[in-house]
Amino acid sequence: MPMQLDRRTLLAGSAALGLSPLALAPAARAAAPLTNSVGAPYMRYKLGEFEITAFNDGTRVGQNPEKTFGINQKPEDVAAAAEANFLPTDRLVSSFTPVLVNTGKELVLFDSGNGANGRPATGHLASQIAAAGFTPDQIDVVVITHCHPDHIGGLMENGAALAPKARYVIGEAEYAFWSSPDRANGPTANAAKIVQTNVVPLKDKMTFVKKDGEAVAGIRAVEAFGHTPGHMAWHVENGDKRLLIGADFCNHYVLSLRYPKWHASFDADKDKAVETRLRLLDMLSADRIPFTSYHMPFPAVGFVEKSTEGGYRFVPASYQLML
Ligand SMILES: [Zn+2]
Repeated sequence: MPMQLDRRTLLAGSAALGLSPLALAPAARAAAPLTNSVGAPYMRYKLGEFEITAFNDGTRVGQNPEKTFGINQKPEDVAAAAEANFLPTDRLVSSFTPVLVNTGKELVLFDSGNGANGRPATGHLASQIAAAGFTPDQIDVVVITHCHPDHIGGLMENGAALAPKARYVIGEAEYAFWSSPDRANGPTANAAKIVQTNVVPLKDKMTFVKKDGEAVAGIRAVEAFGHTPGHMAWHVENGDKRLLIGADFCNHYVLSLRYPKWHASFDADKDKAVETRLRLLDMLSADRIPFTSYHMPFPAVGFVEKSTEGGYRFVPASYQLML
């Protein structure tokens, strides 16, 4: 007979032991308050001799997935795709996953999370860095994949840099686009304002790269234009191990992979973004290398399988990157 540890059993047991039923009362109720916290602060994995820390900057819940993914499709087709993949049709969750690569010689941070503007739901990078055992002044290089607020929001807080001793690396075209006064009005105004407070003041410490430009030895830029005009992914290599830090070339672990040609609302040049998505997904599946993608469910790292039905499938990493 299976053991039943309900209240009656506990009370009967306490009576048999001659205990007052009240002696057991505290154990019989769940008195711990809900934490309302963001969950695991970080996750660590390895790439050859490199050690990578993925940070959980937080998550944001959005409404109406069909207004973000598959905006060139019928809403009912997007809903059917969500449902077929065990996902809700009315809401979606975005994660924010900056990563830190420790090459053994340098600490290289990729993007900075949402910063103060994203709190309380997001903007937790600074505390997660501490939780993971680092101090911000240990960070040698900060790579900015692109200038959307959820990637640059944490670079500065009240005029002080998150990584006070770092130098910075950014795509040349990305910086030129966002720092231009032409961005100050219209749909780019909000991001451009954050660029002026968080990116432009760091200009003197910045290196501007093109395709194949290096952040440090073993880490080079991969053109991934479309999401923004100068959006860069980064190829990390150590020994015979490789990883793509994909940033925002492919944002939903089901919808962007299974349907890479579907347009996403936040891609500035939608056709270019599709072209980039297909090129990089094809490379990842052909070379069978892992990638990390900023907005996928934490810890946002896995592999890409070419699907027989067309499109691709995300295979979350398990222990491949622990060895
Ligand atoms: Zn983003």
